[in-house]
Amino acid sequence: MALKIWINDRLVDEKDAKVSVFDHGLLYGDGVFEGIRVYSSKIFELDAHLKRLYESAKVIRLDIDMTAAKLADAVAQTIKANNIVDGYIRLVVTRGVGSLGINPFVCEKAQVIIIADSIQLYPEELYEKGLRVISACTVRTHPLSLPPQVKSLNYLNNILAKIEAIDAGVPEAIMYNHLGYVAEASGDNVFMVKNGAIYSPPIQAGSLEGVTRAVVMRLAAKEKIEAFEKNLTRFDLYVADELFLTGTAAEVIGVVEIDGRQISGGKPGKITQLLRKKFFDYANGRSK
Ligand code: PMP
Repeated sequence: MALKIWINDRLVDEKDAKVSVFDHGLLYGDGVFEGIRVYSSKIFELDAHLKRLYESAKVIRLDIDMTAAKLADAVAQTIKANNIVDGYIRLVVTRGVGSLGINPFVCEKAQVIIIADSIQLYPEELYEKGLRVISACTVRTHPLSLPPQVKSLNYLNNILAKIEAIDAGVPEAIMYNHLGYVAEASGDNVFMVKNGAIYSPPIQAGSLEGVTRAVVMRLAAKEKIEAFEKNLTRFDLYVADELFLTGTAAEVIGVVEIDGRQISGGKPGKITQLLRKKFFDYANGRSK
């Protein structure tokens, strides 16, 4: 079934959802975006996603000519028009139509695009079996070059790491920063379990401030599992009791091998499985 796509101020048919070749989102990756889930007809953590979107836009001096309330309404209308019960929303704000130079201020108006569709990042069996990952050679963008909190349309740094993973025959790669500390996976946040506690790199190590990461930390606290932000090294990951990744598309998924070192006996660990279950209960409204 053809989708209905939101562009700027209205829903249009998929075939009419077109943007200009002069849009700086296309020419320079100049813009911001969010990936958001819908579970059981409820938009997951919409406020957190909108906050991140507007903060990202502010940092890159992009004016979104729409209030958060209006944008939330547009998201809701797009979900409704596409009959989404369980699905995924891609909310994109590009710099808009400009000239061939990089000056963002010649662009007329930011363009808002909302796509609502289904998504499954990994096949179900990988959630049961866990992922094999590698360490990427590609160093995560320096946090002083582009703040890692900005979810920009320019993903080439992460795409280079993803290519390394695919070349190595695994689905994901762990990225390290310029100091050698763990930053994040190419499209997800990283967690380590050690002695019953969970650890995730601080944002300044070069990770996106993941919405799923924050939810998992809250859920862990409810389970009396201590959660820490800590710089992690490759050694820490190799000798972890468990590893897992979090992200809107990936949800909570166990990692069972990194660079040929087996983790948690080659299957997703107990705490990973518990947090994955708690995550689904929360996402589907079975727990607060
Ligand atoms: N890091 C990167 C680079 C991402 O693209 C994402 C989102 N796919 C995440 C982390 C996870 O963030 P969230 O839980 O907000 O989706």
